Amino acid sequence: MTKFLLSDSLMCVDMLHIGRQLKALDTRMDWHHADVMDGHFCPNLTLSPDMVKAVCSVSKKPVEVHLMTTRPQDWIGRFAEAGASMIAMHAETINTAAFRLIGQVRQAGCQVGIVLNPATPFEMIRHYIDEVDRLTLMTVDVGYAGQPMVPQVVEKIREAAAFKRERGLSYEIQIDGCCNKSTYRTYAQAGAEILVMGSGLFGLSEDLGEALTLMERQQQEALADVERILEKKTTE
Ligand code: MG
Repeated sequence: MTKFLLSDSLMCVDMLHIGRQLKALDTRMDWHHADVMDGHFCPNLTLSPDMVKAVCSVSKKPVEVHLMTTRPQDWIGRFAEAGASMIAMHAETINTAAFRLIGQVRQAGCQVGIVLNPATPFEMIRHYIDEVDRLTLMTVDVGYAGQPMVPQVVEKIREAAAFKRERGLSYEIQIDGCCNKSTYRTYAQAGAEILVMGSGLFGLSEDLGEALTLMERQQQEALADVERILEKKTTE
């Protein structure tokens, strides 16, 4: 892999300068990631359908909505109308109606994402993962930005990558949580393809353009290291 696909976590954007920041993010990131917390599924309140609508009205890039809500069925229509391209739901919240809710997201015209908390096993979604466009593995418990990585998740990334390979499936593997220069190598080696960038990008510099450049350099270095390790392994 020469490059991660990247999304920016909109809850980390400077809300006082969001228009300017979106312009910078649009030039370098692949899509925007909107965290929606309802104060029940996790202990925080974050982005709303109106906020997503405002972002979609000025941004050229797609918006992925990450529903951290106890009842995703109440929000699918609202976020689809707001302009979301993908709606991601937590397996922990849909398993009594997973197929129906996946159908509801498709009917609303959006791609389907599924998210697993660090403590939730991959096994929980194996019967519908073939219907999913993107699998997001949380490497921190949901609720806040800037938390340390839960190391037990690395094995789950490997498991998801192996299952995809063995079954010839096409879901993308995205990591949400603690994506920064100390974890890029680990995530890439385990099989991650996409990173949701929060503090690992926005914390690099007050100047977002500079932060983006620094992030790209750190990722290039990390991926070059991973390539070297792979080459070494294959020549041994
Ligand atoms: Mg998220």
